Amino acid sequence: MRGSAMSGATRGDAAVFLDRDDTLMAARALPAPPPPAAPGDVVDPSLVRLLPGALEGCVRLRRAGYRLVVVSNQGVVARGGATLETVGRVNARLRELLTDPAMGEGLIEAVYVCPFHPKGTVAEFAREHPWRKPGPGMIEAAARDLGLDLARSWLIGDAPRDIEAGVAAGLAADRCVLLGRDARDMPEAASRILAGR
Ligand SMILES: [Mg+2]
Repeated sequence: MRGSAMSGATRGDAAVFLDRDDTLMAARALPAPPPPAAPGDVVDPSLVRLLPGALEGCVRLRRAGYRLVVVSNQGVVARGGATLETVGRVNARLRELLTDPAMGEGLIEAVYVCPFHPKGTVAEFAREHPWRKPGPGMIEAAARDLGLDLARSWLIGDAPRDIEAGVAAGLAADRCVLLGRDARDMPEAASRILAGR
């Protein structure tokens, strides 16, 4: 559906960028993981639980034609609480749960993860990085890799830094939906986006 069917030559598709933890799946509410992972880190794929309405919200956005891309800070990797491989297994479980029940297709096109943190202890990842939200790096990379039109794209997150990352990447501020302020949950955020097109 990319490219040729669109009237405006090279314009990419619209996306919805999604934060992962406490936007799509429970994080803070889980039992604290073993240190050096910290409360709010999810480092065990068997503990992945979708938040109520997360699947419904993603289904509605995807069926409306939005491409769904997860952008997630995982400073736990820099802190030595999980490896990139472990984070990948958690993400794989999330993607498995976010499958369109009618179509049997995965709803999430790509997951971008930032393993860096300036206070990390794992030398390879112990620094600031443009991918780390509120930096725009993950969104910019996804737009480049996947041919997305940021001017028509949206973001949903539960933290101010998610919104800041979207705005820094060039998304309109009123297309960055903060859960708890602009919408209660994913279905409400989806309704807001579908009404705002
Ligand atoms: Mg979050």
